[in-house]
Amino acid sequence: MSAATAGSTGIGDPYFPGDGNGGYDATHYGLALAYDPKSRQLGGTATIDAKATQDLSQFNLDLSGFTVRSVTVNGAPAEFSRKGSELTVRTDLKDKAAFKVEVAYAGTPQPVRESSNLGSYGFIPTPDGSFVTCEPNGAKTWFPSNDHPADKATFDFTLTVPEGVTAIANGELAGQPKTTNGKTTFIWREKHPMTTYLATMTTGKFQVRTGTSPGGIPVYAAADPRFRTSLNSLYDQSGKITDYWATVFGPYPFGSTGGVVDDFAAGYALENQTKPIYGGFEPDEGIIAHELAHQWFGNSLSITRWKDLWLNEGFATYAEWLWSEHRGQGTAQQQFNDAYAGATDAIWKYPPGETRPNDLFNASVYTRGGMALHALRLEIGDGKFFPLIKKWAADHRYGNVTTEQFIELAEKTSGKQLDDLFDAWLFKQRKPAKPTSVS
Ligand SMILES: [Zn+2]
Repeated sequence: MSAATAGSTGIGDPYFPGDGNGGYDATHYGLALAYDPKSRQLGGTATIDAKATQDLSQFNLDLSGFTVRSVTVNGAPAEFSRKGSELTVRTDLKDKAAFKVEVAYAGTPQPVRESSNLGSYGFIPTPDGSFVTCEPNGAKTWFPSNDHPADKATFDFTLTVPEGVTAIANGELAGQPKTTNGKTTFIWREKHPMTTYLATMTTGKFQVRTGTSPGGIPVYAAADPRFRTSLNSLYDQSGKITDYWATVFGPYPFGSTGGVVDDFAAGYALENQTKPIYGGFEPDEGIIAHELAHQWFGNSLSITRWKDLWLNEGFATYAEWLWSEHRGQGTAQQQFNDAYAGATDAIWKYPPGETRPNDLFNASVYTRGGMALHALRLEIGDGKFFPLIKKWAADHRYGNVTTEQFIELAEKTSGKQLDDLFDAWLFKQRKPAKPTSVS
């Protein structure tokens, strides 16, 4: 027997000690939210299904800003308090108990602005709606959650906006949007597990094109009127590239693919599950190939700790090189040669296998991460490399992964001892020797 104790205020990631929470596992988020672009007011309820992983006297959710009107646990009012981005809920739950939390809240969303090298992120109000990109920990700027990729859950979104505004979230639309009294409600469902940072509620004036890819995957593409000329190319490329990745990485993990081009000049794209978003520019094939590769690497297979971010960005960067090879625009070897020759000392001093919390999106995590995969391909040969990538995606579909697991699978698949190779490319603060092809 043991007394119930408080769930920890962080999920246990030493890089972001306040992110996520301990003591429970979120399994589903139901977000019923209304947003008014004119007043910039966001409000509604978040219903979270979870399971206790210890006897709990209290637990935390991550939520930044807003006024919380009420919290219930299993339908009964619960005491709560706020401190920084932590919403603490008093309760009395047994280990392994399934429970439902409902949080009613409203206010003006405040995006995160002090990010190391990503600019603003989170729920960003725009003149006609909102641009919502939450990596690494911006979900707290619009809904209460266990805001860390180690805790994935399914989602449904019931989003109400003024008539004429389109609300876009992850997954697929459940029926036609309904309009009453000048307000339109869009219901979206993401029935596959998703990390909180991939959730979106992008709203505004959009032109939309839907259909299916040549390979039969449903496609939803949307473009701000300022980018209307890119809608057809976004639609065509997204379908075609998703189909191609399914041949290289294995079956597409989600129910639909697509993308959103908004006129908010974020200067970046984010691989929001099922619908990458491109902030203020017309995406070219390379970046679409990158964001859609993330649907496998990052979205279906998610990191357990932020230090392993190269498992997302190294793979997506290498995918750009594979796409270029596929299109006859320069082989992966040529791309590798250019990257190796062009890499700065800063890249060789930053080991991508140990992402730094204050410099998470360093070029090394992308480029040297991609180079690590090419070095692996040269070491074990195409006959082992491509089956390894497919097996990696299949074995951990919808799950969480670590670098150690990837190294272990690479060694098992190839029958080779690969410590030296991964050490040189992922963990050493110096330039690895240029590898040569085995055949
Ligand atoms: Zn990326």
